[in-house]
Amino acid sequence: MLNARFFSTIAHIRDLPEGSQREVAFAGRSNAGKSSAINSIANQKRLAFASKTPGRTQHLNFFEAQVGRFLVDLPGYGFAKAPFTQQRAWQQLIGGYLADRRQLVGLVLIMDIRHPLTDLDRHLLDWFRPTGKPIHILLSKADKLSRSQAMQVIRTVQTELSEAGSSARVQLFSSTHRIGLEEAETVIRLWLDMVKPAKATLPPALDADSATMQPSAPDSQATP
Ligand code: GDP
Repeated sequence: MLNARFFSTIAHIRDLPEGSQREVAFAGRSNAGKSSAINSIANQKRLAFASKTPGRTQHLNFFEAQVGRFLVDLPGYGFAKAPFTQQRAWQQLIGGYLADRRQLVGLVLIMDIRHPLTDLDRHLLDWFRPTGKPIHILLSKADKLSRSQAMQVIRTVQTELSEAGSSARVQLFSSTHRIGLEEAETVIRLWLDMVKPAKATLPPALDADSATMQPSAPDSQATP
């Protein structure tokens, strides 16, 4: 897991974190399971629920996974009637961020496996595609379906995406049943160019064997 920590909430493009090197954004319809997905990937219980605080629902929330490496929680969409790309706040902040942010290296799209590829999801996919950046789809709440039903949905979604000319990748995911966590984490680590910490090894001088091999100091051999 990534062990991310809350970093900042921003309401204006000018407040984007300086010193950021790479960012992965998370998007999805409200209730798709985005907060739960971020929390389980980031190994935190309530990290991403901050974005649901009233007044913060149109903000971007930054979680730092490693120095200069961020997970970015985008506001959930689906409540307003107009397509989100026509809404003013979206255009200015979120649309601007997704279209222009150089440090953004990929988009994770969360879709409830029981309601995949809604009009708004397709709209976002079509809109983001010209950036040329990769998209990884989590079919969330996969625990709600049997394995064979879930595999059927993943195939259907993959077919529809390739027919629509999208190169987005798709996987099963469940926060509650920890399905697909490792797969999602691997993609995110790769995008963020994060390496797993190497297993700690003791330097030779502190190794137990070499410590006992130290010759005794001349003083200790002094004659009585
Ligand atoms: P968000 O609005 O996209 O951030 O969605 P939430 O993470 O808040 O989840 C919405 C609802 O779906 C909540 O009631 C969650 O408990 C539930 N939920 C989220 N992930 C899962 C999952 O993997 N399995 C199941 N069964 N329920 C989930």
